[in-house]
Amino acid sequence: MSSSEFSIIDEFFTVNSSQGFPPILGVGDDCAVLDIPNDKQLAVSTDTLVEGTHFLKNSDPQLLGHKVLAVNLSDLAAMGATPAWASLAITMPDIDKDWLAGFSKGFFSLAEKHSLHLIGGDTTQGPLSITITIMGLLPKHQRLTRGGAKVGDAIYVSGNIGDAGLGLLKARSGSVDLTDEAVAAYLMPAPRVELGQQLLTLATSCIDISDGLSADLNHILRVSNVGATIQHQNTPISDEVCQHMSTIDNQLWPYSTGDDYELCFTIANDVDLEKIDAGLAQTFTKIGIIEEAAGLRIQMSGGQQITLNKGYEHFNGK
Ligand code: ADP
Ligand code: MG
Repeated sequence: MSSSEFSIIDEFFTVNSSQGFPPILGVGDDCAVLDIPNDKQLAVSTDTLVEGTHFLKNSDPQLLGHKVLAVNLSDLAAMGATPAWASLAITMPDIDKDWLAGFSKGFFSLAEKHSLHLIGGDTTQGPLSITITIMGLLPKHQRLTRGGAKVGDAIYVSGNIGDAGLGLLKARSGSVDLTDEAVAAYLMPAPRVELGQQLLTLATSCIDISDGLSADLNHILRVSNVGATIQHQNTPISDEVCQHMSTIDNQLWPYSTGDDYELCFTIANDVDLEKIDAGLAQTFTKIGIIEEAAGLRIQMSGGQQITLNKGYEHFNGK
């Protein structure tokens, strides 16, 4: 790495903070060194965002810095883990200090919110692509997985589904208006980290919705070896997305749009939801029930039942 690349790391990617779990050794050496507390275990996940595939060309760097971290934090949220550390690999076509300043601002403002430390990374030249490996901590012997849903459990989803899908359509037409709920859901998703932590001892299964509710709930169903029926009228969909569904005459649209970064989870019917913070409890909705018969069925308001098994698939198109 050249000295100018080193100065970039100093200038944009070296932040010391004493919040959370500071690394023993952070950015600057050949490796970072981390100390995992005795009563904890490590949860690790990696996500890559590629320009033109996962975000639009010429995206605002500050929003991108937020989003790439949000997407990774969402995976920790789905496991019930507490964010601790991240490493950041950036491949970029050239060194553009304005771009780096924006990216770093978006990244660190979200990192600080979750007491997350950037502990290292890699910086290389090439088409714009960003990879984060995120690490979180879980109490020993606890984790929230896709595999624990049981027949009779209630199915919940946080927030709305479809907002980010509509936001993508608007962003494609050039909107960066963050006062528009749909655009904000797409460009600045808020990972449900606190909710995930509270669900850790309450939920039987959990996943974050990145490829659409249908695809991601189907992952829970397959791994847990169960099926489900969702009541369409209970699915949280904004008025604006409902309007869009009418316009395109597709009531199932929000089940297959990606980028929601909400949590979908199951809880045994006899569990007392009062254990969840009142503020957080308002952020999710019961949408259906886990059943024995395999597959995901959507019960439409008119009585019709539709089986859904797809969301957004990168290698198969829509
Ligand atoms: P090496 O050649 O040993 O891989 P590098 O020259 O790539 O080391 O990186 C030097 C230091 O800067 C390392 O500590 C590395 O973790 C850190 N680093 C490089 N790129 C980034 C980045 N984008 N964000 C944070 N830290 C980075
Ligand atoms: Mg390197």
